[in-house]
Amino acid sequence: MNLKIAIQKKGRLSETSLKLLEECGINISNGSRILKATAKNFPIEILFLRDDDIPQYVEQGVVDIGILGENEVLEKDKNIDIISRLGFAACNLCLAIPKDEEYSGISYFEDKKIATSYPKILTKFFQEQNINVQIEEIGGSVEIAPSIGLANAIFDIVSTGSTLLTNGLKQVETVMKSEAVLVAGKNLPEAQKKILDRLLFRIKAVQNSAENKYILLNAPNDKLQEIIDVLPGMKAPTVLPLATAGWSSVHSVIKEDTFWEIIEQLKDLGAEGILVLEIEKMIL
Ligand code: ATP
Ligand code: MG
Repeated sequence: MNLKIAIQKKGRLSETSLKLLEECGINISNGSRILKATAKNFPIEILFLRDDDIPQYVEQGVVDIGILGENEVLEKDKNIDIISRLGFAACNLCLAIPKDEEYSGISYFEDKKIATSYPKILTKFFQEQNINVQIEEIGGSVEIAPSIGLANAIFDIVSTGSTLLTNGLKQVETVMKSEAVLVAGKNLPEAQKKILDRLLFRIKAVQNSAENKYILLNAPNDKLQEIIDVLPGMKAPTVLPLATAGWSSVHSVIKEDTFWEIIEQLKDLGAEGILVLEIEKMIL
């Protein structure tokens, strides 16, 4: 019995989705140019699809789970669950207007024509704002819509903003933030649920390792307690005596986002020989 997962065949999510599975110890030998592959060392079957089709396939139970952008999940609005946020393919879905236009606030859009590939998300947004707009659905190259007279504004994915600039547009509102997510069907069979739990456990370990660093340092014994207080560690830091009298070696795990702050405090407290290492996997 295999768990069936759908990932994007070709596009911004395909490499990173495969990389995540690899980091979870799942090896796919056949490469990604085919439609279906079975992992050798984990009960999982991978289907390579267009991201647009994934929500529907998950809802219908053709596949059990899938990896895709949250934006696509919301737009397709199928009866499926987001079970994990994956932290890659981060982007914003934004409203943009010609750069010389004066922007007075959201009411600017009243009775305007907006081109987008995400009509559902946009319709909902303007309904909540009580603003009447005309939505022009197009499949791609949304940024050129204003310059060819198709629309007054656009609603699209923005990651750096440079595409907007080259098309004479400026971003004026962020409607939603998106990242890659793992989705699952509502009624997974028990056997598939068990495999999914194993996969989620591995994903968590990969995510934890990315968020944390392993730290080793030498501490003068008279400052040991103060140094330990700055280092939370998974339980408590490991302390080992150094061959030099009066010194100890301290090992712990610190969070990436508080990293520099902690290093500065440790240095001020007299820590020396601080080493910071990548963690490959982290099981809590
Ligand atoms: P498909 O052929 O599978 O339908 P696509 O053209 O719809 O592909 P991509 O451009 O590969 O999709 O983008 C897939 C997802 O990656 C988007 O839905 C979004 O969640 C995310 N994404 C898109 N553009 C960016 C970007 N510029 N930066 C970061 N993430 C992005
Ligand atoms: Mg698509």
